[in-house]
Amino acid sequence: MLLSGKINKIRTIALLLIFLSFGIMYLGFIWPSWMLFFFIVGLCCSMISVGIYFWIGILSTHSVKVICPNCEKETKMLGKRDQCMYCKAILSVDPKDDPRRKSNDYSDHLNNTAENEQNGLK
Ligand SMILES: [Zn+2]
Repeated sequence: MLLSGKINKIRTIALLLIFLSFGIMYLGFIWPSWMLFFFIVGLCCSMISVGIYFWIGILSTHSVKVICPNCEKETKMLGKRDQCMYCKAILSVDPKDDPRRKSNDYSDHLNNTAENEQNGLK
């Protein structure tokens, strides 16, 4: 689950949450005696959604831009493993996933990460 296009997925959840909050607020018109309750719950949902959008904004600034080797489009990666936003290919900058090398040495790890980032930015 965590492997797939994280940024897009979280954005979808935030959008659904906004619709949900409007839905909950509309329920207040059906049961007027509960209007305040539904209004507050709906407001909380939209606040959480705004919070998620804010969090996504911070996350995207930390994400790495790479050229997907499969479809050759520029995509964003969150963390060491993520899915391409266009073709859903699983991308990784983790040296453990590099089929060319099998070493888990830490200096090797740093070299690999730098190398992968350079390759991605070409
Ligand atoms: Zn791709």
